[in-house]
Amino acid sequence: MTPNKKVLVTGAGGFIGFHFSRFLKEKGYWVRGVDIKVPEFGQTSADEFELLDLRRWDNCLQATRGIDEVYAFAADMGGMGYISKYHADIIRNNSLINTHTLEAARTNGVSRYFYTSSACVYPEYKQLVTQVTPLKEEDAFPAQPQDAYGWEKLFTEILCKYYREQYGMETRVVRFHNIFGPQGTWDGGREKAPAALSRKIAYAKLTGSRQIEIWGDGEQTRSFCYIDDCVQGIYKLMRSDHYEPLNLGQDRMVTINELADIIMKIADWHVEKVHVPGPQGVRGRNSDNTQLKKVLGWEPEISLEKGLETTYAWIEDQVRQKLAQ
Ligand code: NAD
Repeated sequence: MTPNKKVLVTGAGGFIGFHFSRFLKEKGYWVRGVDIKVPEFGQTSADEFELLDLRRWDNCLQATRGIDEVYAFAADMGGMGYISKYHADIIRNNSLINTHTLEAARTNGVSRYFYTSSACVYPEYKQLVTQVTPLKEEDAFPAQPQDAYGWEKLFTEILCKYYREQYGMETRVVRFHNIFGPQGTWDGGREKAPAALSRKIAYAKLTGSRQIEIWGDGEQTRSFCYIDDCVQGIYKLMRSDHYEPLNLGQDRMVTINELADIIMKIADWHVEKVHVPGPQGVRGRNSDNTQLKKVLGWEPEISLEKGLETTYAWIEDQVRQKLAQ
């Protein structure tokens, strides 16, 4: 039991931060959530929730006061449509958030710091084909991430390493591979593929349409990890003594077309996939979980189908409410 620890969750108004705040509360932690917005889809579980822009140094000092451990989820981010377009905003906002939060944590004597990096750090040249070799942690170098989002993640990974080496702060770094689940962004331009496809299929079903649009030929491949596995993995890594970046994702690769087929089956609504031009990201990406299994003695276990059942049901409900407005 660790009920006396005070924990800061940044980005607590967002998808993973919202779920992780609840997870920590259930474990008995005292939680301060910070974000520039309150959670959109439910009440925060945090003991305290502060609206603060973490690009600002003074706000980062305020956020980290009296805190033992930080889970840093705050980021200017979104799906391919977003991260392929707003490179300057993303690299400026995220480097300010991360540099200031880390230094404020050090100033306030935080002992353990969890940073959420991404599979987007991996070089484009290793992700050129659909049947891609799964990515191992050491594949990140020589570096050539596709977008500014990945470059900034790599920069902050390195910043965490130097803070550990120079100041003795215990930093932990995870590389997520497409986390999905209910209570995440599903509309508005920042949503990722599982949410976007669920929304399109739900709209089609509820309005009687038999077509949806898919960006590109839909043959690009990815792996997808359900949020409940994600929060377990985050916690296990934070409690471990492994300080190098670690993949956290599923290693079952599917095409975007296959993802759409699974959602159609769950929705019980068949639609024609109309392929249109749009940002697709790298051609193929999968997680190599060898290191994850070795370090944590565990790997994500919730199937894509099971995770999508819950996610689709939640998004269909959101769409129904929107249509009724
Ligand atoms: P999200 O967009 O739902 O949450 C991020 C939160 O950060 C948002 O609520 C946003 O308002 C907040 N934020 C943005 N700018 C801020 C600022 N200046 N000050 C304070 N808060 C600010 O995203 P998520 O899916 O919950 O992702 C959480 C973390 O995991 C992010 O760092 C993201 O880059 C990383 N990640 C997520 C995935 C994924 O598949 N969801 C994959 C790889 C990495």
